[in-house]
Amino acid sequence: METDVAIVGAGFGGLGAAIRLQRAGFTDFVVFDRGDDVGGTWRDNSYPGCACDVPSHLYSFSFAPNPRWSNTFSSQREIWDYLRSCVDRFGIRPKLRLRHEVQEASWDDKRQRWLLRTSGGDHTARVLICAAGPLSDPAIPDLPGMDHFAGTVFHSARWRHDHDLTGRHVAVIGTGASAIQFVPRIQPTVGALTLFQRTPAWIMPRLSRRISRLEQAVFRTVPGAQRAVRAALYLVRDTMGLGFLHPAVNRLASRLSLRMLRRQVNDPHLRDKLTPRYTMGCKRVLISNDYWPALTRPNVEVVTAGIERIVPDGLVTTDGAHHRADTIILGTGFHVTDSPIVARIRGRGGRSLGEAWTPSMHAYRGTAIAGFPNLFFLLGPNTGLGHTSVVLMIEAQLRLVLAALRHMRANGIQAVEPTGDAQRRWTERVGQKMSGTVWQTGCSSWYLDTTGRNTTIWPGLVTGFRMRLRRFRPADYRIVTAGNTPNEPEREHADAV
Ligand code: NAP
Repeated sequence: METDVAIVGAGFGGLGAAIRLQRAGFTDFVVFDRGDDVGGTWRDNSYPGCACDVPSHLYSFSFAPNPRWSNTFSSQREIWDYLRSCVDRFGIRPKLRLRHEVQEASWDDKRQRWLLRTSGGDHTARVLICAAGPLSDPAIPDLPGMDHFAGTVFHSARWRHDHDLTGRHVAVIGTGASAIQFVPRIQPTVGALTLFQRTPAWIMPRLSRRISRLEQAVFRTVPGAQRAVRAALYLVRDTMGLGFLHPAVNRLASRLSLRMLRRQVNDPHLRDKLTPRYTMGCKRVLISNDYWPALTRPNVEVVTAGIERIVPDGLVTTDGAHHRADTIILGTGFHVTDSPIVARIRGRGGRSLGEAWTPSMHAYRGTAIAGFPNLFFLLGPNTGLGHTSVVLMIEAQLRLVLAALRHMRANGIQAVEPTGDAQRRWTERVGQKMSGTVWQTGCSSWYLDTTGRNTTIWPGLVTGFRMRLRRFRPADYRIVTAGNTPNEPEREHADAV
């Protein structure tokens, strides 16, 4: 099948792209997703307690406000419902190709088209928007003996709802954003919970509350009310988040967190284990009111020794201790800097994005990549945020994508890709902004790739990112028109960083 634009992924990124394209008059597109429903990470993560730690009014599309949010921080179910409702609200359903896993997407330079091999058949497209998302493929730790475990193992993003945890001996590996949400939920039900912690998290209070019916009515009926709340939240979150970079603000926030720890955990030995000893903010600051209290319950043990191996009836740690378990839940995060989709995308000359991004990811404005014509990558390198809504970044990228498509349409352009030079300049600028920040130097985290570069976080205000992606700058691109040779030598992309 031939289509103008192919979108990979039907989560926030893919649906946002579809709606923005549709509204801008680019109606010849399809959205592929390997799942049997839309929603992406909000479809896949259904673990108990799954919720967003960004305010609902911000964690939604600017063009699709939802006056019915029931809580200031929405639950997974509500966000998933919101995304599903957007499909019908904007007439996207006919464009969806669910249960279509993109197995390969390769650029055909002669035809100036992307050739897509999917589990539901082959397609061609002029433009490819990759919205597969950085949190779509669970990271499963390579622990010796896992195959011999006699019980049940699952990842938090593939929760086994058919596996009743009542009375079970459960081992939880990982103490990140997901684990701190499901641990307090399962603790009252399980017989025993052993939590394997590698790094204690900085945790702040979760200041959430129900949104009253009156407020919902105001958002429904008073023009601009919800927009005003969103604008206020945007400003507060964007500036507050960056405030963490200031040593005084950081010290104050760290003191607040430690005070909450002292209040919630009496046992000095446990408190010592849970005390973070690195600069706040170098990995995601978590929010929870019930995680630390749950760890004080008699059926919970926090283990800080490393996991040496898995045995049929439990886990053995490096101190030789055996920890009985019949269920292992992996709260071990995702393949963020090494997503499997990148091996499946092949640009000019057959080079895969995975190869281009080895050992480190590089992209022009986090969105386009030298050597990969007409490819736009949502939530690409250095577009992640720890302090506010990533939907804002997606929308900023979509603005650039639309600007590019409009420019191409107006000028009869077949293909665009950033020049190696433009990509290099962008990478250098991001590197300079990152240098010396807590995200680069604070601790080892999944923000950093194997070279030690932070390729995930945007080191600045969202506002700054949005400004930089407002316009399509033709001079930064290698441009192909019918019968025209590109304005950049062929070999350039190979050594672009
Ligand atoms: P994560 O933040 O990457 O945390 C993974 C945890 O597993 C960390 O504690 C890590 O320890 C530990 N771990 C990984 N491999 C291990 C191993 N081999 N042995 C022992 N421990 C291991 O993953 P996540 O909690 O699933 O969250 C991922 C991201 O999802 C978040 O950062 C956030 O962006 C997003 N998320 C967002 C929300 C939200 O409310 N918006 C909610 C949930 C998740 P180390 O810290 O030592 O590496």
